[in-house]
Amino acid sequence: MKKIILTGDRPTGKLHLGHYVGSLKRRVELQNSGEYEKIFIMIADAQALTDNADNPDKIRDNIIEVALDYLSCGLDPEKSTLFIQSQLPELAELSFYYMNLVTVSRLQRNPTVKSEIQQRNFETSIPVGFFTYPISQASDITAFRATTVPVGEDQLPMLEQAREIVRKFNSTYGETLVEPEALIPENEVCSRLPGTDGHAKMSKSLGNCIYLSDTEEDVKKKVMSMFTDPNHLKITDPGSLEGNTVFTYLDAFCTDNHFAKYLPEYNNLDELKAHYQRGGLGDVKVKRFLNAVLEDELAPIRARRKELEKDIPAVYEILKKGSIKAREEAAKTLADVKAAMRINYFDDEELIKAQQLKYNS
Ligand code: ATP
Ligand code: MG
Repeated sequence: MKKIILTGDRPTGKLHLGHYVGSLKRRVELQNSGEYEKIFIMIADAQALTDNADNPDKIRDNIIEVALDYLSCGLDPEKSTLFIQSQLPELAELSFYYMNLVTVSRLQRNPTVKSEIQQRNFETSIPVGFFTYPISQASDITAFRATTVPVGEDQLPMLEQAREIVRKFNSTYGETLVEPEALIPENEVCSRLPGTDGHAKMSKSLGNCIYLSDTEEDVKKKVMSMFTDPNHLKITDPGSLEGNTVFTYLDAFCTDNHFAKYLPEYNNLDELKAHYQRGGLGDVKVKRFLNAVLEDELAPIRARRKELEKDIPAVYEILKKGSIKAREEAAKTLADVKAAMRINYFDDEELIKAQQLKYNS
């Protein structure tokens, strides 16, 4: 079967290190692997509006930020189709039909939606659009017949929901849709990178992020004030790695080469960890090392972004072209869906003939 990727991000802010290790870095690798026939990368503005209905300007302003982050990380519009969700009405239409295949209680059980509702203090005032966004995500994925969805761990329940909708649709109306698979980072730390405050997930909505577009000074400031082991007061104290965000980030980002380059007194991360646990290694030294490791990754991204920022109309043009191309693809799937459901009345000559026959007899 042809391998096709669909994935994306909500334009609720600039992209951060969690997006990078959870999905974006992988996308670029997959894009350049040549193994995928088509790659669709979506800026999910319609989904972002489901919990930002009163602030469309925020979404509008962040579309360009996400696009700049994409391009500066190496997504290449020649190889990947970058598009804006709201520009494809076919996606909304698919959702309208998929909604009939999902129960309210099934949506209520979705653990990610549950925790997001809590985090947003929606309590009883949950917007219907937000509550049903897993269905809309199923539309986004199936519209492109995606086989592969590279995402962070928080998206697993969405993928499961999408797979259920596909199975239900195919068994009700005949084999039409493709069942997608999630591609979660192999490195567990990367599938849910914690925030700089030690919170379980780095998230735009929690304000605990290091952004790909942060300046060198900002990154340094954030790293130096990161959450470590609160009981590690003196350098000589033994330190704990449990919940120690600085070491979690090193797990996600550092390689043995970084030691050769910046901390040659250690061969690898295991040696550094052992020293920290023994005592005698200060947080500041570890944080300085982490900062150097992050800069290795971020400096080239930042430099490319500076170049791209000089021609914003060109970036919008990429999104416009991508949206037109993506729309053609979604329209084909929608036509197949309507044919399978037999609601393509005007294309169905047999139907018209049969209805006439009823009246002739
Ligand atoms: P919001 O708070 O607006 O939901 P977010 O920071 O959760 O924003 P999304 O746009 O919802 O970001 O997520 C985009 C992609 O990035 C998804 O694939 C998600 O799994 C992944 N992702 C987001 N945060 C992290 C993280 N901390 N670690 C790993 N992957 C992440
Ligand atoms: Mg999210």
